[in-house]
This record gives sequence, C-alpha cells and structure tokens, in this order.
Amino acid sequence: MTDLVPRLLDWFNRAARRLPWRQTLDPYGIWISEIMLQQTQVKTVIPYWQRWMQELPDVRALAHAPPERVLKLWEGLGYYSRARNLQKAARIIVDQHRGRFPNDWAEVLALPGIGRYTAGAITSIAHNQPAPILDGNVIRVLTRLFGLGGDPRQKATNRRLWSLATAAVNQAARLPAPSGLPFPVSGACSALNQSLMELGALVCTPKLPRCPECPLHDSCQARATGRAGQLPNLRPRAKATERQQIAFALESRGRWLVRKRPAGSVNAHLWEFPSFELPIRRSRNPDPVEVLHRELRIRASSLTPLPMIRHSITRYRITVTPFLGRLTHIPQDQPLVDGQSWHTAPEIEALALTSAHRRLWRQITHHR
Ligand code: SF4
Repeated sequence: MTDLVPRLLDWFNRAARRLPWRQTLDPYGIWISEIMLQQTQVKTVIPYWQRWMQELPDVRALAHAPPERVLKLWEGLGYYSRARNLQKAARIIVDQHRGRFPNDWAEVLALPGIGRYTAGAITSIAHNQPAPILDGNVIRVLTRLFGLGGDPRQKATNRRLWSLATAAVNQAARLPAPSGLPFPVSGACSALNQSLMELGALVCTPKLPRCPECPLHDSCQARATGRAGQLPNLRPRAKATERQQIAFALESRGRWLVRKRPAGSVNAHLWEFPSFELPIRRSRNPDPVEVLHRELRIRASSLTPLPMIRHSITRYRITVTPFLGRLTHIPQDQPLVDGQSWHTAPEIEALALTSAHRRLWRQITHHR
C-alpha cells in the first residue's frame, strides 16, 4: 500500500475530471451529488445536480421546499425514496444541528438515507477526514489490485475490502494535499478517495479495463495473473420478474385524468395515468374497452393504442401497453377514487410523474 497511495494521488492530479460538484467543498452540495450518483451515470447526474443546486442551494432551502417540488427536481432519476430521505435529513439538520451540515462522521451516518459509504465520501471530501469509502468502483479496483477472489458481498471479503480502503486513506492522511488539481480539495484523504472512484470509473472499468494506462499496473495481482475480467467475483443477480400493465391517458375537454401514488407504494407520492396490472402469459391481449369499464366505469369515445413502454423497477421488468382515450365529458356521476384528479396539460407538465408515465406523456405531446 505504501507506494500505491502516492501513485494514485499523482495520477489523480493528472487525470481528474472537472465535475460541477468538485468545484465546491460545501458538504451539502457533495451530499446531493453522492446520493444522485448512486446507480446513475455522471453525465445523467450533471444537469440534475445543477438544477437542484440552483433551486435548493442549501440545507434550509431543501428542508422548507414543498415535497412536490423536491420530487419534481428528482423526476427521472428513479429511487424516489432517496429524494424523500434527503428532505427528511435536511429537516433533521435544521432541527438538531441549527441548519449546519454536521462534521462528525457518526452524526452524518445517523441521517436518513446515509450509509457508511456516503458518510465517508462526504466527510473525507468536505473535511479531509480519514474516512474510508467502498462503492462499486472502489470494490472493483481493490479486488483486482489485491487479487481477492471472494464475493465482495460476503462478510470476510467485505471486511477485508473495508480494511484495505481504511489503510489507504490513513496513509493519505500523512501526506500533503495534492497541488495542481483544477478544483479545490480539502486534502490528501479527499483526493485519495476520489482517485479510487475515478480510477474505477475511467480505467479499471467493468469490461476491458485499460491496464496499460493504469498507474498501479505493475503492482496489480489480477493483471499479473490474467484475472481482471473475472474480478470482482459477484454472484449473478436473481432473474428479473416480468410484469404487464395497461395504462390509460384519458382526456376530456383539455383535462387529463391522473392519480397520485399512495404512501408506502413504489414511487409513492408521484403521479401517473391510471394503470392496471395484467395477468402474465395470457393467450390473448386484453380488451382495453373492457378493462377501462371494469376498473374505472368509464366509456371512452375513442381509444388509440400508443407505443409500448418497457422499463425496470428493482427486480421487475415491466411492459406497459398504453392507450390514449378521448371522453366527450368528464363523468359527473361517479366520485374520483385513489387520489385521482383531472388536470390541464400545463398542470401535468408541472407534476412529478413516474419515469414510465413521463415517457407516456411525451408520446402524447409529440403526437399532438
Ligand atoms: Fe484495474 Fe488493470 Fe489497474 Fe489492475 S492494472 S487495477 S485490473 S486497470
């Protein structure tokens, strides 16, 4: 480890990307970027982070924002519980820390939605604390570098990885902050943690790692033994479950029927067009007229099929068959249930829709 850390820091000095959240040492901005970057690519996150920071530039702004606005700013990133946890944590920071993001690692870890990785990332990047980090990129680099053949999700290998990450950041704590980076860094611990993530993102990539360009290639056990492609040794994920849904975008005199998803459900508090689960493996496609009448007691004057939408939520692969329905009038004789309401097109634009139904709405607006 002794000579690996200076080599990593030196490489980071030369290769680090100028990312918007690297221009700040404010733990709030770093926190938002770390949560957004979980399971999401950097290029996707950049505009989201910029928009968020413009509208909610600090903890107090987030704590006091209408929850609808927070979800709208998150719309399209998925994993909406993360946005809700951000606001919950901001309210705790306002109530219990007088609006100042805590410096202490244990206090950061105690906030909703923050695990050991995120607490380490925030405290090391913002305050140069020697807190280790272990995300997918760092796991890949360390398992290959040290030739660890065990499953990183299993206890023994996971513990070994945390101890290697800890040793690396502790060594960095004894070194001066690197100079020459095109953005501010709080010190060598920050730079070391970021360099591990950066190496995993740019060089030690999941497929076809660029070993000849790697600053650690002459110390890497996976490269020496030709095992880079086999590490990390992750067990294959459980097979995805297929689901089928039918959705109705119903319009009557410029108003559209939508409903808010209930608390406790997937995508809770987001909006969607009425949609219904269909049994899988049917011998014939369901009759949309029949489904619409059975589920909503509505008869449309026309029902037009729209292109299918395929998307995934956690382990589910969902196929949505959408229909555009026109109604001559809004039915007055039946109460609206399940958080349903009628909205104009500009109102729909302003709502936080689920990702699949945002795509459905785009299909409609493109066809008009
Ligand atoms: Fe990854 Fe190759 Fe570098 Fe080893 S030499 S850490 S496998 S990029």
